[in-house]
Amino acid sequence: MESFQHYIDGVFEDGASHFESLNPASGRPWARMPEAGPADVDRAARAADRAFRSTAWAGLTASARGRLLLRLADLVQAAAPRLAELETRDTGKIIRETSAQIAYVADYYRYYAGLADKIEGAHLPIDKPDMEVWLRREPVGVVAAIVPWNSQLFLSAVKLGPALAAGCTIVLKASEDGPAPLLEFARLVHEAGFPPGVVNILTGGAEAGAALTRHPMVAHVAFTGGPETARHILRNSAENLAKTSLELGGKSPFIVFEDADIESAANAQVAGIFAATGQSCVAGSRLLVQRGARDAMLERLKASAEAARIGPPADGATEIGPLCTKRQRDRIAVIVADSVAAGARIITGGKVPPGEGFFYPPTILDCTDAPEAPCITQELFGPVLSVQAFDTEDAALALANATPYGLASGVFTRSLTRAHRMVRGIRAGIVWINTYRAVSPIAPFGGLGLSGHGREGGMAAALDYTTVKTVWLRTSDDPIPDPFVMR
Ligand code: NAD
Repeated sequence: MESFQHYIDGVFEDGASHFESLNPASGRPWARMPEAGPADVDRAARAADRAFRSTAWAGLTASARGRLLLRLADLVQAAAPRLAELETRDTGKIIRETSAQIAYVADYYRYYAGLADKIEGAHLPIDKPDMEVWLRREPVGVVAAIVPWNSQLFLSAVKLGPALAAGCTIVLKASEDGPAPLLEFARLVHEAGFPPGVVNILTGGAEAGAALTRHPMVAHVAFTGGPETARHILRNSAENLAKTSLELGGKSPFIVFEDADIESAANAQVAGIFAATGQSCVAGSRLLVQRGARDAMLERLKASAEAARIGPPADGATEIGPLCTKRQRDRIAVIVADSVAAGARIITGGKVPPGEGFFYPPTILDCTDAPEAPCITQELFGPVLSVQAFDTEDAALALANATPYGLASGVFTRSLTRAHRMVRGIRAGIVWINTYRAVSPIAPFGGLGLSGHGREGGMAAALDYTTVKTVWLRTSDDPIPDPFVMR
């Protein structure tokens, strides 16, 4: 069995206890992981706080921080094959996807490396003759970054990149499910030469997460995960009054009109729901299809789902790997069964396959007559597509917005005017038109409602890790006249 360690205050060390990580393709343990207890979390937060105020970090110029991030980007790129292999082995995500995604993670660090010395303050044309007033953008402090199991390197890069560019320090908690890639990434942080305590990486479950998010030294909690955990985090942040940014789940509509390029729409829908075995926050899990295009779409989707190569995620030919955990696979099976009981009709899939590993087949459910089925109302985080038919644009919008989530959406149409109307009408943080699941470090990413608040990506994310200091300088040499009147 391989063995991994925490990275706290520049030192690799074991946790308070240990647990075994399972390979989702076999269901068997393959690695020994450290598990952080509250004392480990406390040491990491204190190390981050010390580093935040140290000359080794606070004394660096923004350009020097950028150079460290650039070195980290190069190291991530060089280590991408090993990181991809570990993520595939520990989470079950197919190697084709982990390889492509991790190569792109390096670009996120590169983008924020370039941004570090472009976070500017401002000078104000103040309404008083003898004053100069300017604004300094200063790092907010210690950032607690918490991520779920899917895409851990990616979901941490969108937090670490902007936070480090801004000058913050970090305690990153990897998910207890599949933490190997982030614990390995700690070696790259070390090799890049970040001063001790600037980035601390540990893993553990709810107990470690709770200890971290309520820690008095944490100034900002950057969280990706489910809404229920987000509620715990908000309650905990009432203790330290930390700022929060929450990237949560979704029930994203994928809307196809009769005038769309159906071949493209079907291919994008397959990628939108079955890639990463559906474990994607932006999964297009609700297909809303105009009645005249319904049969053509379903025929293609069914054929693709049934032809998909399900198998070992480390095999380059595999298209659908296992779910990350048995718990997740079993939850999906229950929601599909409950949906069928509520009137959904299985078009394909829907049966747990025999054999080892946490597999679930690509599944399509016709829910046109079952609008309240749990597969319509709940996020499954698995390879399950629910289909509803509509007739008019208004009906499509009503279905699209009939969810408390608001993360992503897709619209397939050849009509430019309709595309604009849909963009205006959809309540979501992202609208993809005639494409789906595209991301970039340059473009903001995030949602509203149950999908959370705050945006990752772009300059705004870096500014989110800063606080504004307003500086007043009196330029007159005359004595201050009246001590009892504010000017
Ligand atoms: P989860 O909320 O159960 O866990 C996420 C992280 O929170 C884990 O590291 C976990 O250990 C930690 N945690 C658990 N309890 C905690 C507590 N009380 N305090 C602090 N931390 C705690 O989520 P999950 O089931 O692992 O992941 C799936 C969810 O993540 C889905 O809802 C999915 O949509 C969402 N997600 C969102 C995005 C996005 O960018 N919007 C991306 C990926 C996943």
